[in-house]
Amino acid sequence: MTLKVTVLAGGVGGAKFLLGLRHLLEAASQGAQIAAVVNVGDDAWMHGLKICPDLDSCMYTLGDGVDAERGWGQKNETYSAWDELKAYGVEPTWFTLGDRDIGTHLVRTQMLTAGYALTDVTEALCARWQPRVRLLPVTDERSETHVVVTDPASGERKAIHFQEWWVKHRSKVATHGFAFVGAEKAKPTAAALAAIAEADAVLIAPSNPVVSIGAILAIPGIRAALRETKAPVVGLSPIIGGKPLRGMADECLAAIGVESSAEAVGALYGARLDTGLLDGWLVHETDQALIPGVRSLAVPLLMTDADATAAMARRALGLAGVTL
Ligand code: GDP
Ligand code: CA
Repeated sequence: MTLKVTVLAGGVGGAKFLLGLRHLLEAASQGAQIAAVVNVGDDAWMHGLKICPDLDSCMYTLGDGVDAERGWGQKNETYSAWDELKAYGVEPTWFTLGDRDIGTHLVRTQMLTAGYALTDVTEALCARWQPRVRLLPVTDERSETHVVVTDPASGERKAIHFQEWWVKHRSKVATHGFAFVGAEKAKPTAAALAAIAEADAVLIAPSNPVVSIGAILAIPGIRAALRETKAPVVGLSPIIGGKPLRGMADECLAAIGVESSAEAVGALYGARLDTGLLDGWLVHETDQALIPGVRSLAVPLLMTDADATAAMARRALGLAGVTL
């Protein structure tokens, strides 16, 4: 029987984890199928283009097209179009758009405008990149992460798009919370629900627990699917020694009143035996997590290369009862 593994994933962290998981399964298991249910909360329209940063991070990374240093965007990128946009003074000038990347956004935008669903558009883009992982946006509808901040200029509270908070302000503004705008009306895709229901193991990548995994869980029906699947659900902590490896997960957690620790993130996801999602929770070897109802294991969780990440994936699958 074909082994089916489904991963909940954000952008750079999720993509790195998927790369290691694929490395493991292609070496160890004939014809295993990997599906990734990917966050769309960071998606935005800019300059008339639909941009899907997390889907693209996964697609470029798994398609061997990513800029390895940044961990996102295409390698050998140039910025002539962006320079032109800036010369016109067209906002947003703070959002980098590479020339090659714009090619992706043009194809995506044309297909969406022609009426194709984001799931189908992603599949079409992946025909070129061959990620060998089915990349499934959690929803085809619009669900955007907005951040409630104190406007530094006026001192008033307002909500801004996640990209503006992260890319323009570098998250250095007083932050009070997150809103997944449109999530309550959005439907999960049939493909994402099926990938969760039909999996042998569901893994939660060490992605940002608030704005990547949290934004996926905000889509109605996803939590229920995770609670109902016959597959064990095992997560990997993005927090090591009280800090995220990169990015702003600590600031996101602080804004929702959750401590920045592996244990607190595990407790945020909760035990499936209780009202949460997890059967198993992997934390870094120097951490520990005591969450009633969750089997927790401390192992190396640094994604330094594909082999180290594959070893993490092996431990996660082991906790899910899959031995390779
Ligand atoms: P984004 O959408 O590009 O921000 O990426 P994700 O949400 O998928 O992943 C970001 C998270 O990955 C951050 O919270 C990091 O702490 C985590 N991360 C990055 N590298 C590592 C690593 O080597 N090990 C672990 N455990 N987490 C990592
Ligand atoms: Ca992201």
